[in-house]
Amino acid sequence: MKVWVDDQRCRGHGMCLTLCPDVFSLTDDGYAEAIDAALPTDLEAAAVEAIECCPEQAISEK
Ligand code: SF4
Repeated sequence: MKVWVDDQRCRGHGMCLTLCPDVFSLTDDGYAEAIDAALPTDLEAAAVEAIECCPEQAISEK
């Protein structure tokens, strides 16, 4: 599983960072980005929760 953040939708609320800090980080511009790698299986549940909880529906599985 890999995830990505649509920077056209992200508004930098930071919910994803709170739920899954090992996958998401904040750029200098104040938007989230996801690690560009397949996620370890033990992080997948938290990543899915971040997808479901993002207020802007900015996170997708790729
Ligand atoms: S929760 Fe969604 S809108 Fe908020 S920082 Fe993460 S990707 Fe961006």
